[in-house]
Amino acid sequence: MSAQLIDGKAIAAAVRADVRAGVEDWTQAGHAPPALRVVLVGDHPASASYVRAKIRAASEAGVDSETIHLPADISELDLLALIDELNTSPTVDGILVQLPLPDHIDDSKVIHALDPDKDVDGFHPENAGRLVIGEAGFVPCTPAGIIEMLERSGIETSGAHAVVIGRSNIVGKPMANLFLKRGTDATVTVCHSRTKNLAEIARQADILVAAIGRPHFVTADMVKPGAAVIDVGINRVEDASRERGYRLVGDVDFEAAKEIAGWITPVPGGVGPMTIAMLLKNTLDAARRRHEHTAVEA
Ligand code: NDP
Repeated sequence: MSAQLIDGKAIAAAVRADVRAGVEDWTQAGHAPPALRVVLVGDHPASASYVRAKIRAASEAGVDSETIHLPADISELDLLALIDELNTSPTVDGILVQLPLPDHIDDSKVIHALDPDKDVDGFHPENAGRLVIGEAGFVPCTPAGIIEMLERSGIETSGAHAVVIGRSNIVGKPMANLFLKRGTDATVTVCHSRTKNLAEIARQADILVAAIGRPHFVTADMVKPGAAVIDVGINRVEDASRERGYRLVGDVDFEAAKEIAGWITPVPGGVGPMTIAMLLKNTLDAARRRHEHTAVEA
């Protein structure tokens, strides 16, 4: 059997169209367009390209978006001062700091400095905590996008055994907490580099999420027949046939796994586009929430 492809590009386009319509309603109601500020430090090519993609998508959705490009040698203090400025600006709804930051800047210090109500990436500890205790807050875009994909593909999560490989703060842990949430109701297992019998555990998954960062880590023998396989990985592998000398592959051996799985996401064109779509959704939510808070305070 060949798995059904989960087309992340098409699903992301639908989410983006919904956000666009939401922004139109928002501005027609007399509000300024949601405003997103993306902070890019230095000239890391991959980061610069992610930021360009985010800004382009935001503009297409009607979001007022701007990159604040800072030199690689900016001091931590100056960066924190800028964050403070954005936190207090009445015209900024969402702030995203593109990671990783240069070595002399402590990523976590910067994340802690963000106003949790403008933290559209959902990385601030307050938002991480809200997710764990089931309160409304911003959820990291990649795992939120995966839940959206599963829902829009009609894949049942309630009672399903979801196995997440990877325990990072931006993918693995929030993914596990989202699966666990009331309303999603999966039974969750999280695996990492010290997990024993990983292949055996993966084979029990009705939904298998691979967020490892190792090309072709998930092989066909780790997939339960009919399972939904979600590949988060983005890995560069050398490819002399490509002009740029490499191609992007996921963490799953796609060709082999698709013969066993029921559903599968490709790389590229799977989880990646969803991440950006959810960022736009979070930015619109940020504008709405800020308005509600301001209305309550007034
Ligand atoms: P991290 O490196 O932060 O985390 C990787 C996780 O994989 C860790 O928990 C690690 O375990 C685990 N791991 C590593 N090796 C093994 C192993 N041999 N067996 C079991 N587990 C292992 O990565 P991220 O979560 O940030 O990203 C994961 C992948 O997803 C990357 O390829 C990244 O590029 C991609 N990504 C894609 C996004 C998208 O939009 N599509 C967004 C974000 C990330 P341990 O904790 O024990 O070290």
